[in-house]
Amino acid sequence: MTRTATPVVRPSIATRGRALALALPCALLCALLPHAALALPGFRALPARGVEAANVEQARVLALSLLRRARPALGPEDVRLADAAARELAAARFLASTDQQSLRTCASRDYSLFVDPQEPRRIYICDEVRPYARAGGAAAIAVLAQGFVHESAHLTGVHDECAATRFELAVMDRTIGRRSAGSRISYRC
Ligand SMILES: [Zn+2]
Repeated sequence: MTRTATPVVRPSIATRGRALALALPCALLCALLPHAALALPGFRALPARGVEAANVEQARVLALSLLRRARPALGPEDVRLADAAARELAAARFLASTDQQSLRTCASRDYSLFVDPQEPRRIYICDEVRPYARAGGAAAIAVLAQGFVHESAHLTGVHDECAATRFELAVMDRTIGRRSAGSRISYRC
């Protein structure tokens, strides 16, 4: 990731086919390790009392606040989406890339953050985003929050990248302004 004045966070979404392919190595372990089989290989919850998890939670709180604050300036469809996105984001679990397998998953599609349509209420955090979570501070938290707004739209079932990006930018434009150029660069919407 290029860490500049216009940070690049590329929210994205895994395709069903890829998610299934990645889940296959786990399939044989499902009976023995039902919980391990639920997440993509190499992605783990952040240590509960660590600074990174605390910063991710701060970013979630900010994203939820942005979804609420943007409401009065959004059209009726986006208000409904903002409400649904907030419900999903409030209940979502975050899983961070921790090894070479997850690194490859992220690198293969140039992901920064993504959701798997087969796994409700989970947001995957790739390696290039973790420095923001480790660093904390208002600027880094705001970059993460913008990404979470985008992913929260996906969690409601909006799989079209341009629709998710348009919603993300509508929320940011009506609140604290855009803090990442990532999804615009990636999807050219
Ligand atoms: Zn996306």
